[in-house]
Amino acid sequence: MACAGRAAALFLAAVMAGCAPGAGTRVEGAPAPQARRAVLVSWDGAKPTALKALLAEGRLPVLARLKRRGAWTFSARTVVPSLTLPSHTSMMTGVGPSRHGISWNSYKPERGAVGVQTIFEVAKAAGLRSVLVAGKEKFKHLVKPGAPDRFEWVEDSARAAALTAVRLLAEEHPDLVVLHLRPADDAGHDFGWGDTATGAPPSPQYLEALAECDAATGVLVEALRRDRRWEETLVIVTADHGGHGDTHGSLSDDDMLIPWVAAGGQVAVRGEVRGPVNQVDTPATLLEALGLPVPASWEGRPVPVFSPERVRRAA
Ligand SMILES: [Zn+2]
Repeated sequence: MACAGRAAALFLAAVMAGCAPGAGTRVEGAPAPQARRAVLVSWDGAKPTALKALLAEGRLPVLARLKRRGAWTFSARTVVPSLTLPSHTSMMTGVGPSRHGISWNSYKPERGAVGVQTIFEVAKAAGLRSVLVAGKEKFKHLVKPGAPDRFEWVEDSARAAALTAVRLLAEEHPDLVVLHLRPADDAGHDFGWGDTATGAPPSPQYLEALAECDAATGVLVEALRRDRRWEETLVIVTADHGGHGDTHGSLSDDDMLIPWVAAGGQVAVRGEVRGPVNQVDTPATLLEALGLPVPASWEGRPVPVFSPERVRRAA
């Protein structure tokens, strides 16, 4: 039955994409989609070598739990250039910078929103709601009218950003939540990521900022568990880039490698993900979790972490 329900949801999404109804429109009389939710948490500037060291010391309890119960890799790769805005744009559009066209890394209001379709628009066209909580103003380049339904720019602590996402979960009942946490990137630029080439270790401030991201992620995860939404949710924790010294943007593994951890009730595959994972695969995986087809124009493909039998039907 779960398979049949899933097929019905995919068919419904395909029908809706084909007949191009107005934003937010559902096909009347069609079966309701299965209850699903997708949550993406991006730790800006989180570097796998530092995460692995902190995990070994027990200093990232939330990520450790997600990893233990989910599918993960610390060898995922971001896009070129390994910069915040180009990378997050790929994370939200399923294509690389040469296709989405955002090569700059600051807020340039005169350039408007990204020119290609975002995951928020795909969700909107299928009648789903989405929210974006970001710690940097440049994320406005990913915001179009009504897609996401809500955008909040929260520059304060990672915890404040996570609490905003929790509030929006309760108020807006979004199907898709994107939460961006900035403190590790700030600490990397101010105090250093460390450098594999020279053997320099990460700064204590950078490591502490990663622990702050972990705690903030825990705020959101616990809210999902408390509201009994965990079983129908996919949570992905990843990053936009790593870093070396006090910067990033190069082709080095220090900058290009990112963590990718998928957990939540929808994830059936546990352990290390086999095969390459790229930044552009993240939005495709989120769409798979929501039961929506991945646009043919996208370069990314879902990372195979699901089993249909694990997806619960709507109550
Ligand atoms: Zn960044």
